[in-house]
Amino acid sequence: MCGVFSVYLPKSCQDAAKMTYFGLYALQHRGQESAGIASSNEENIMVYKDLGLVSQVFNEASLASLPGHLAVGHTRYSTTGSPKWQNAQPILGNTAFGVIALAHNGNLVNSVELNQILLDRYGDVQTGELANGNTTDTALITALLTGNLLKAALGKDQSLLSTALEILPLLKGAFSLVFMDEKQIYAARDPQGLRPLVIGELAEGGHVVASENAALDIVGATFLREVEPGELIMIDDDGLHSSRFAEPKRSGCVFEYVYLARPDAQIFGRAVHEARVEMGRALAREFPCDADIVIPVPESGTPAAVGFAKESDIPFAQGLTKNSYVGRTFIQPTDALRRVGIRLKLNPLKSVITGKRLVVVDDSIVRGNTQKALVQMLKDSGAKEVHVRISSPPVNFPCYFGIDFAKPDELIANNLSVEAIREAFGADSLGFLSLENMIGATNRDASTLCLACFTGNYPVKFSTTNIPTKHLLERGTL
Ligand code: SF4
Repeated sequence: MCGVFSVYLPKSCQDAAKMTYFGLYALQHRGQESAGIASSNEENIMVYKDLGLVSQVFNEASLASLPGHLAVGHTRYSTTGSPKWQNAQPILGNTAFGVIALAHNGNLVNSVELNQILLDRYGDVQTGELANGNTTDTALITALLTGNLLKAALGKDQSLLSTALEILPLLKGAFSLVFMDEKQIYAARDPQGLRPLVIGELAEGGHVVASENAALDIVGATFLREVEPGELIMIDDDGLHSSRFAEPKRSGCVFEYVYLARPDAQIFGRAVHEARVEMGRALAREFPCDADIVIPVPESGTPAAVGFAKESDIPFAQGLTKNSYVGRTFIQPTDALRRVGIRLKLNPLKSVITGKRLVVVDDSIVRGNTQKALVQMLKDSGAKEVHVRISSPPVNFPCYFGIDFAKPDELIANNLSVEAIREAFGADSLGFLSLENMIGATNRDASTLCLACFTGNYPVKFSTTNIPTKHLLERGTL
């Protein structure tokens, strides 16, 4: 997860940070632990970042301290490195020529190797924010870029563009990056295109790069195209300049369609909302149910519940109220916080559900915390029967590409059969969408998708002796 946003405006417009602030608002669902913006007036890069939501981190005064016509921004959901202040992004690095600021959505699977490359090239004195307690794979990328540019001061003619073309092929795993020096912005995407990254054009001139097209819409930018897998883009006054650092091997994350992306996102030409409705329709065909109403687990389960209701001719109803001021429970950083979050977030509407046979549609089951608490709450509130339907297959394998469910024993489907899960939830029945129908709903060929958390076939190979874990780079663990 994580949301990234960057903008290059005409020099006469100094509002890049304010535009980034609005863009980050549209990407808040991708990360809620910290937020940050770096901006440049062509002479200096300033950064402001802190723990918390975009609305908690920024105000008029902090945005006013970020002048300039180019900026990069970030909302964080931690996968490598704990959710501490030092790990907030964008990350700054000093080079022989100035400063760079970098923001990352994704997760690398060769951090140990990259750390060794850094040590081999620059000795044991770690550079930049790594030396100040930053424990993210993002700090490794920044240190590799800045280390190369510091070395260039010894006589090599090196630009950030040529340095990036040299460093990016070393990275393995998921990375949708936006970064900047004082004068240009850059965007790069891993060869698999695991996480989304799109480019928009502003009517008044300038370009925007963002994790999802909703962030383009909010700032009035028109969708131009994706950053291609394996592509590096540089943006300046003359527009876009494209280079390639690797051949594309497209393998986009299917979970973006299931849960991660906003429903108004378009991924690889497919509207995410439409894909989710189709998943619900297919689920109704696979696991029909004799029930009185279909209710969603709001909000990510809503489109699939609409599809289930349409296909099965069972009325759709809102049976749960959601407290919108509570973040997504799935992406809170600890189990204890997740459990508190669930009870804060959802409350049954007794007048709708009492005495009814319910079909409850959710998008996925990862740890199973939400669904277990939910079935209990619905029964306690008077539901006659609770039939759980999930619009994706069981998650059996960890994700190493940017979702924080890296330990196999955290995955309920990895430990229990479907029947045992149903029993653990106390549900009257339980059905998961098949892999084939989930893929079918995306309108994509299976060969262009990452399906690893369902199949165990990872599109990027990595060392099994250095399994990427969240705290891999915390002090003393390498
Ligand atoms: S393992 Fe699953 S969640 Fe991770 S990138 Fe692949 S499809 Fe997405």
